[in-house]
Amino acid sequence: MLMRPVRCLALALALSGAAGLVACGRDTATSSPTSPSSSATTSGGTTSGAVSLPAWYAQFGSAVQVSVDGTDVVLRTTSVPDHPSYYFGAGHASYEAPHAGMQPNQNRIVGQTVTLRVPAAPSMASTPTDTPLGPIGVAINGVVFFNQYAAQRQPLTFEILSFDRHNGHPTPTNQYHYHMEPLWLTQAGRARLLGVLLDGYPAYGPAEAGGAAPTGLDSCNGHTHATPEFAAGTYHYHFTEAAPYLAGCYRGVRGSVG
Ligand SMILES: [Zn+2]
Ligand SMILES: [Zn+2]
Repeated sequence: MLMRPVRCLALALALSGAAGLVACGRDTATSSPTSPSSSATTSGGTTSGAVSLPAWYAQFGSAVQVSVDGTDVVLRTTSVPDHPSYYFGAGHASYEAPHAGMQPNQNRIVGQTVTLRVPAAPSMASTPTDTPLGPIGVAINGVVFFNQYAAQRQPLTFEILSFDRHNGHPTPTNQYHYHMEPLWLTQAGRARLLGVLLDGYPAYGPAEAGGAAPTGLDSCNGHTHATPEFAAGTYHYHFTEAAPYLAGCYRGVRGSVG
């Protein structure tokens, strides 16, 4: 296992009550998130109607550029993992040999910019919409989330064998992604906040804060209750062992990805 950067400790201590649930690796020196509120100052030249970055976005690491544009949070990443993978290719510093039983695909990890625009203040859609193929959200370490399907919306059955030790693999266009529980991240806590989906609602691990399995998940794989980051409660998704693993549909009004 790799050593985590020392600055993780400072962030863990800063987020009282959330030790073990924090993202590591983000340089927070320039980030001072506050609760959502009206603000006349933001990046991108927008000077009216903008909101402040919600505090929980501080959990995204340095691999994700997080900013606010109007009422959207903009997350930019290259989806290159911060952990070892076979898919970096032999000779790369983060390469590791396939684990027992792994059936690697032919693809490699190549960084490519993905920009997700999500509502800073998410809202429930009148009707859920199916999640598409391709990125449906992004993890706190910058790796994009995919849904439960392979190409042509086929079950992942055989693709699962190609996952590396951390449950990720690259597409034929060499974009690394997770369909299932990101094991590199949940080793620091199975209940931790793991990222955000395109509708602006957060994604959590396969356990609740007390360690129990989530109950009452809806058809999209989410439900509503208070979490360490949302004392007043929020809709959120959970990774689960069975399909859809993360989210087969968006429960909220979705943003955009490009
Ligand atoms: Zn895949
Ligand atoms: Zn929950």
